[in-house]
Amino acid sequence: MTAGPLVLVIEDEAQMRRFLRAALESHGFRFLEAVTAQEGTALVTSHNPDVILMDLGLPDLDGLELTRRLRDWSATPIIVISARGREEDKVRALDAGADDYLTKPFGTGELLARIRVALRHQEGATDTKSGAVFETPLWRLDQGRREVSVQGTIVHLTPLEYKLLVILVRHAGKVLTHHLLLKEVWGNASAQPHYLRVYMAQLRHKLEEDPARPRYFITEPGVGYRLRWP
Ligand code: CA
Repeated sequence: MTAGPLVLVIEDEAQMRRFLRAALESHGFRFLEAVTAQEGTALVTSHNPDVILMDLGLPDLDGLELTRRLRDWSATPIIVISARGREEDKVRALDAGADDYLTKPFGTGELLARIRVALRHQEGATDTKSGAVFETPLWRLDQGRREVSVQGTIVHLTPLEYKLLVILVRHAGKVLTHHLLLKEVWGNASAQPHYLRVYMAQLRHKLEEDPARPRYFITEPGVGYRLRWP
């Protein structure tokens, strides 16, 4: 039997750790836990986990600051788990380098889905580079040919639409903040946020069956956008 992915939980609430341990171990994950930021950091170094679940209210350091510090040297996906559910909390966590955000309370199904996205993104990080083909049931992006098609028909995208699509595809399944998208596409995080809305509407118009009810290009209100995948 092969060992499942190793999940490190950094959380000071014993009840939450028990819930996570039961949920993860019963689904084939290996489980490691830390109560403080200091213990958590030591376990990241010694065990190199596949995913980190991080509470924000830790006794010795705020989880946001810990996320920032880990990001200096570790690329392990970080999913923030927090009772702070306001939009600005999510934005701050994602901008600090977290990969995703789960607001407490959450169910096992949602937890497992987010972990799977984080793991897939980690594994796929090398094959979604240039040259790769990304295919949904409706449209297809061929980065080697710089070509986008909808059900076999080539669709013309402007250079900025194409750039935006490539970034969303590279981070498929993840929430990307307005700040990050503006920085990546326009090279300037203080670019006008409405540019993003306009370009997202254009992508939906070209790549969604029903642009008013997008299946792929999802708005995360107040936070950013997510390419829903799979
Ligand atoms: Ca806490």
